[in-house]
Amino acid sequence: MKIRLFTSLMLVLGSLAAASLRADESSCHAAAGECEHQIRQMLAGRRYLGLQIVELKPGLVIKTVLPNSPASRVDLREGDRLYSVNGKSVRDANATQFKQLLAQAAASGRLWLIIQRRGSLKKVDLRLEPYPEDYIEKVISSHLAQSHTATAGAQP
Ligand SMILES: [Zn+2]
Repeated sequence: MKIRLFTSLMLVLGSLAAASLRADESSCHAAAGECEHQIRQMLAGRRYLGLQIVELKPGLVIKTVLPNSPASRVDLREGDRLYSVNGKSVRDANATQFKQLLAQAAASGRLWLIIQRRGSLKKVDLRLEPYPEDYIEKVISSHLAQSHTATAGAQP
């Protein structure tokens, strides 16, 4: 039960956090209220970047820059190819490896990326930031909509 809830939450975080592909939502078996509480607690202490990326196999390209996110405040655009993260090459990386690099950077909150745009390389410095309240609300409501509708009536 606890593990299930945790796994489901990680899917939510995976699908909406810093950089990721759409994760398959599995049905969540926790009570909706408890689940909302857990998500709120987990996100409250986390920092994010605000990028969604696509895997090129190999390599990573920016798919979306979320509005009002740390990524939106620097010169990052849809279609930019990621070259390195904090000095580590991601030219052949997959999304999982990219997320690991972001997780390492979350401790200090500092991140520098090198991206390739139309053949030239650019360096971008930024700071990961805590999730804004409205973003957390969005994560919760989308999780409740996707994973709790079918069983909502049966939840205590
Ligand atoms: Zn849930």
